[in-house]
Amino acid sequence: MNDLLVTIGLETHVHLKTRTKMFCGCRLEFGVEPNTHVCPVCLGYPGALPVMNGEAIHLTVTAGLMLGCEINRYSTFDRKNYFYPDMSKNYQISQQAKPLCLGGGVWIETGQERKFIRINHIHQEEDAGKIIHYARYSGVDFNRCGTPLMEIVSEPDLASPDEAMSYLQSLKQILVYAGVSDCNLEEGNMRSDVNVSVRPSGQKELGTRTEIKNMNTFKGIYAALEYEIERQCAIVRKGGTIVQETRRWDPDIGETQSMRTKENAHDYRYFPEPDLVPVTLCEDQIARWRATLPELPSARRERMMAEYGIPEYDAGVLADEKPNADFFERCARICGHGKVVANWFMTDVMAVMNETGRTLAESALTPEALAELITLVRDGAINGATAKQLLLELFIEGGSPAKIVAERGLAQVSDAAALEEFIKEVFAANQKSVDDYRAGKKAAAGYLVGQVMKLSKGKADPKLVNTMIARKLAENN
Ligand code: ZN
Ligand code: MN
Repeated sequence: MNDLLVTIGLETHVHLKTRTKMFCGCRLEFGVEPNTHVCPVCLGYPGALPVMNGEAIHLTVTAGLMLGCEINRYSTFDRKNYFYPDMSKNYQISQQAKPLCLGGGVWIETGQERKFIRINHIHQEEDAGKIIHYARYSGVDFNRCGTPLMEIVSEPDLASPDEAMSYLQSLKQILVYAGVSDCNLEEGNMRSDVNVSVRPSGQKELGTRTEIKNMNTFKGIYAALEYEIERQCAIVRKGGTIVQETRRWDPDIGETQSMRTKENAHDYRYFPEPDLVPVTLCEDQIARWRATLPELPSARRERMMAEYGIPEYDAGVLADEKPNADFFERCARICGHGKVVANWFMTDVMAVMNETGRTLAESALTPEALAELITLVRDGAINGATAKQLLLELFIEGGSPAKIVAERGLAQVSDAAALEEFIKEVFAANQKSVDDYRAGKKAAAGYLVGQVMKLSKGKADPKLVNTMIARKLAENN
């Protein structure tokens, strides 16, 4: 494939996180009884008039600002005309002439280096309904009809399926960070059309492209791109020509198939939407929205590395999801040991999250409690084993670790005199292990340490017990 260059561009539709639909007051709710959240506007009854959802505009502009786009101060809506059963008014309200956002882009990681993927524009539109196929007939669910969407159109800057994945992942992370969308792929919150072409490496102008429509999983997009690139390369290598067409990805057989060629391509006959006034945004409004933007995930990683002295890997894991990064930062600020908190978070807290299947938001653990727990361990007040047990309890039930330790007498026993008593008892009861050790079975020492820990109900300071037992075994030798 190295004799041929690949060019990919993506058009990504993203559901906006609003409470209601784009042009009516119907509530947005996924997975409910079909056609329960509908009204004359989103069902496209003649004469019903759309009313703009201001929050949708806010969210699209927020996305634009996060992605470094130029925000159009004056933006208009157009009708995109076509017939399909999932869209009963026979046109989609969209933007063509003056979309909300222009330019901008996303940084992606490609192996060793970073690459900037330019965005052409972002426009605002509405989703269609959903066709559901049954055994002998099909139905249409209009609950999704009128869902606020933004369409993010990239420039053809991507050179491989891996770069496309990296772009989508960065995009998703930024949009979730900004609270613009949940980007829940299973619920169809983020769907992409891909444009792909190949050309000989010496050739300047792009090859003829094909478009693969409406894919809603990253895995599907990756597989479809791999298949389509290979298909086009095979044709070009045999001296054939690529037909400009729209293709469909069939995940079941792992192939793209022709849907329609350029000759019977849609002419959408866009024209200005007469029922909506243009959106005008003043400088004040944009400045206010800009002031509430969160840090970009990549900027946050850099800052966290510098501020808490944690390695790049840790910063990447912690900044991956905003709630985790917020939690980590609060905890690290309270207890002051960034790397220690990072270790606790990445191993123990994440393990408990996996074990319980809950997120931090669904847990009772607070950054204050975790900081207190870590401080108790660092001060030697409790040992690591006790702390790990407590963590699970704090995660599920909440509470103050210091209080629980005091109430239940969980404090670590670091008092040499008290430990000496335990050790004496263990030695007396396990003469065989003591003899084994002296006969050269060094592992017997570990057994003795274990017995002391057991006798102390897990509260003994394991380090101190180790040292004391080693000393005692050496002494009497
Ligand atoms: Zn409605
Ligand atoms: Mn679209």
